[in-house]
Amino acid sequence: MTQGHETRLQIDSLTDKGDGVGQLDGRQIYVTGALPGETVSVRLHGIKPNYAQGELLAVLQPHGARVANFCPHDSCGGCQLGMLEYPAQLDLKRQRLLAALAKRGIQAEVAACLGMDRPFAYRNKALYAVRPGPQGAELGFFRKHSHELVACDDCALQPPLVEAILAEVRAWLGACRIPAYDEQHHSGVLRYLMLRDGRQSGEWMLVLVTLGETLPGVDDLLARLARFPALRSVVHNINPARGNRILGFDNRTLRGDGVIEDALDGLHFCLSPLAFYQINPEQTLRLYREALSQCGLTGQETVFDIYCGIGTISLFLARQAARVVGVELVPEAIEDARRNAERNGLADKTEFFAGKAEALVPELYRQGYRADVVVVDPPRKGCEPAVLQTMLTMAPHTLVYVSCDPDSLARDLAVLLAGGYRLAQVTPVDMFPHTLHVETVARLIRD
Ligand code: SAH
Repeated sequence: MTQGHETRLQIDSLTDKGDGVGQLDGRQIYVTGALPGETVSVRLHGIKPNYAQGELLAVLQPHGARVANFCPHDSCGGCQLGMLEYPAQLDLKRQRLLAALAKRGIQAEVAACLGMDRPFAYRNKALYAVRPGPQGAELGFFRKHSHELVACDDCALQPPLVEAILAEVRAWLGACRIPAYDEQHHSGVLRYLMLRDGRQSGEWMLVLVTLGETLPGVDDLLARLARFPALRSVVHNINPARGNRILGFDNRTLRGDGVIEDALDGLHFCLSPLAFYQINPEQTLRLYREALSQCGLTGQETVFDIYCGIGTISLFLARQAARVVGVELVPEAIEDARRNAERNGLADKTEFFAGKAEALVPELYRQGYRADVVVVDPPRKGCEPAVLQTMLTMAPHTLVYVSCDPDSLARDLAVLLAGGYRLAQVTPVDMFPHTLHVETVARLIRD
């Protein structure tokens, strides 16, 4: 096998990053843009003892559902499945989940993946990196596996107002010669822009992230943004740290009151720049309704919502339960959760605790807290063993596991199944069309 060699290759699977994988001379060949079942021609490079990269030259035998990619900026690395028809994307996600479960010896019926009717303009949060370009500061996304900027201001996953606001920001960057952040020298001014909208409320927030405390040309920027009445808040966020963290902790409000509001199914939420909030509001509703229905609440239950964020699921549950106890790592999120409960008239049914679930959940159990139903919605790495162990000791009749990672879900389900639970329902939900991500809601019951 030599560098630059061109060859035919059969693709048989996808990595969790969305690259096609084929076998050649005992090596795995990774091909960005190729789909399982396809025959492609590739040029080999990056040859290592066990694997190599293949640059996709042509698709010789395409996947039956391959289409022209809707996106002209497909090198941005955000979407991996733009060349696959949407129904086939949903099927692929379901297959991914089945494969992850099978790897842990779990045979389960998995429902069809719940998709969107129109899977575009779905994101309520846009994050743009600002980096030096040949003509001054440039806005865009990072190329896959790199920090090289792919200029883009018309992402099809964002609603159209993003493009209009970015055009003003771009004009301001040029007119005021705002220096972009230089990662190598950790210098410059503007690092990132974040736009967030409340899909129900129609309110928008713009956050400008800078390295230092100064943001030159603020008045000019605010004057340009005056033509967007929907922009309730403009916030200056300072992030002096090196590394990949996007937002710092210091927020200064430039316009409005620094927050926006949104509603989900009649519940109202107040969002600050750092608050975690699901990215796809239409599908969030599907996800939360699925979780709620899997809980099977009658109004009598005490429910734990572990990894509760700003209490969105907790409040959904509280409307149909006797009591909800929420646990979350980030103290600011817990403050938001309490405020949100208050605002929705659910404060007397809810109690929120800030801390690590792996310490707090066993501690609450020791103090005598008990749940009839437990919901968990952990980050990608899944639940800590102490959380799973406490659930097994407490033995609620129903567990609902909301997961954003099929592998950690399968690992944790194996523990719960061995501990006496039975898998009653598994429903994947598509929160991120055109990407490989798949969210799952799984219901476990104790007979
Ligand atoms: N259920 C919420 C948030 C889910 S995201 C929603 O739908 O909006 C996962 C949450 O777990 C995040 O808010 C994160 O801050 C929190 N988290 C991460 N590690 C944690 C830990 N060890 N203990 C408790 N919460 C944690």
